[in-house]
Amino acid sequence: LRRLCDLWEARGSGLTNMHGSTGDIVLLGTTTDQLEPIFYELTHEFEMDLGGSGSNMRTPESCLGMSRCEWSCINTQDIIYDLTQEFQDALHRPMFPYKFKFKASGCPMDCVAAIARSDCSIIGTWRDQIRTDQAAVKAYVGGELVPHGGAGGKRTSFDIKAEVIDLCPTQCMEYDGKSLKIYDEDCVRCMHCIRVMPRALRPGLDRGATILVGAKAPILDGAQLSSVVIPFIKMESPYTEFKGFVEKMWDWWMEEGKNRERLGETIQRLSLREFLKVCELEPDPRMVNTPRFNPYIFYDPAAVPGGWEHDGAAFRQRHQA
Ligand code: SF4
Ligand code: SF4
Repeated sequence: LRRLCDLWEARGSGLTNMHGSTGDIVLLGTTTDQLEPIFYELTHEFEMDLGGSGSNMRTPESCLGMSRCEWSCINTQDIIYDLTQEFQDALHRPMFPYKFKFKASGCPMDCVAAIARSDCSIIGTWRDQIRTDQAAVKAYVGGELVPHGGAGGKRTSFDIKAEVIDLCPTQCMEYDGKSLKIYDEDCVRCMHCIRVMPRALRPGLDRGATILVGAKAPILDGAQLSSVVIPFIKMESPYTEFKGFVEKMWDWWMEEGKNRERLGETIQRLSLREFLKVCELEPDPRMVNTPRFNPYIFYDPAAVPGGWEHDGAAFRQRHQA
């Protein structure tokens, strides 16, 4: 790091930005004639691999995952390391219409903000029941355990109805004064109840990930959050099923994407239906972002039994007032 700073003092402004939003070390401000010598020194004398900031795979990132966090449902660090090794070509050679980012969070808390920032988000989740320790629930209600892991300071009271039950987004919890009941089939894994009572509630044990695609910052067409495309996938090394999905997704995007068009924009232009078809994914209600926002369903003509032709005159004949 000292050598790097010395180089930048000599050849640039000396202004170094650590962990900026566009890179881990950002060297700010130099003159054009210094660029080539700086790259030469960094690669030949410092023996650094500079990666690329072009239309390639960039900034793969994960939360601390299983190394530090009890909520992690997947090994985020191993996943990101494995993808980085597997897709070295995509990392170093601009081969896409635009940049492509993978980010992995171990649970739906999404500490790396993958859902807002990455073209492909890998979010740890579970598909069985939230593990519940009823004695610990009672201890929270009785004031022996402090909610939020003590983050709000000392508490004299805890209202489980107001602070947990009523705030569950799908209203799938009940507390009768003795035990807590969770209707897991309606739980959307928002993590609220687990976050408030971490000693009483924990993610389930049948774990995997939800895969979302298409987030981006607001440069063109405004900011966009990711959409769910695989509600649940097991994420175990060597991640063969996931990598198979990535290859299909990239093949399509490289073929169809316009220059400087992020994956999410290509999907927006050509439709999620088309994307699901090329990735060989079945449509699923969990992919619906805003239910009933748009009452129209656009069927694929090839999927309609009997064909697509519609005789308007015959229809009006049958439906005369
Ligand atoms: S995203 Fe979840 S698993 Fe990862 S550090 Fe945050 S809380 Fe822990
Ligand atoms: S995780 Fe969220 S949706 Fe699921 S039971 Fe808890 S508060 Fe409700």
